[in-house]
Amino acid sequence: MEMRLQPVCAVRETCKCCGADAPPFGVVDFHKNCEILRRKVLGVSGVPIYYHRCPECGFLFTTAFDGFTTNDFRRHIYNDDYVLVDPDYRGDRALANADMLLSLFRAARPERVLDYGGGNGALAAHLRAAGFDDVKMYDPFVPEHAERPEGRFDCVVCFEVVEHSTDPEYTFADMCDFLDEPGLILFSTLLQPPDIECQGLNWWYAGPRNGHVSLFSPASLRMIVEPLGYGLASFNQNLHVLFREIPDFARHFLIPRDAHRYANYTTTVLAC
Ligand SMILES: [Zn+2]
Repeated sequence: MEMRLQPVCAVRETCKCCGADAPPFGVVDFHKNCEILRRKVLGVSGVPIYYHRCPECGFLFTTAFDGFTTNDFRRHIYNDDYVLVDPDYRGDRALANADMLLSLFRAARPERVLDYGGGNGALAAHLRAAGFDDVKMYDPFVPEHAERPEGRFDCVVCFEVVEHSTDPEYTFADMCDFLDEPGLILFSTLLQPPDIECQGLNWWYAGPRNGHVSLFSPASLRMIVEPLGYGLASFNQNLHVLFREIPDFARHFLIPRDAHRYANYTTTVLAC
């Protein structure tokens, strides 16, 4: 029988991590967000957002926002309603991350810290208050923090950012451009759970209204960072580090013999 319906999304997209052909994986309403399991905060928008998933590396992504300008993101995603779908943005996450960094760097501290994609600047403020002398921030979506800082940093932190990137290859390369040598990038993004095929886009983290457009598997994360020449290690499903040579301030929590595959951690660090 002749198929008369036209597909409303591409039947193949090129994987942004490995270049393989990625078929559609599912579709959700634009308003689907990360608060959906805790409380219903938005109705149905009527705009379908399709996600594709790479059969080779497992990267799960949508191209729906690839044509967005910075102003489009500010208008449609990071607008006044954003705190409804990400209430921790106001400050709870920054405080928790600051506590985690103070614990991680209790034995030795980096000299220059950049908070890449630092939003409202709360984390940088917490770190300065805790005695970190040189903390800069950069966030192109926040006008007052959109100017690129000067120089390089021996530590770049980047919490809940890369899943928002429509161009992860660029975002990771840009972060690495800020890094001094030796230096450490410490970043968070929640990796897909093992049962992602069963959960599909019901997975709570798949939220286009939160701007979650790039959802990584362990393999896709490796595919995107290895060409940059950095080792990747993960504390857990959410917290990861990149480095070439382990800086002195990180030697107490990174074990050299496992450096490119696995990061050692303590229970206090895991509490993040
Ligand atoms: Zn791929």
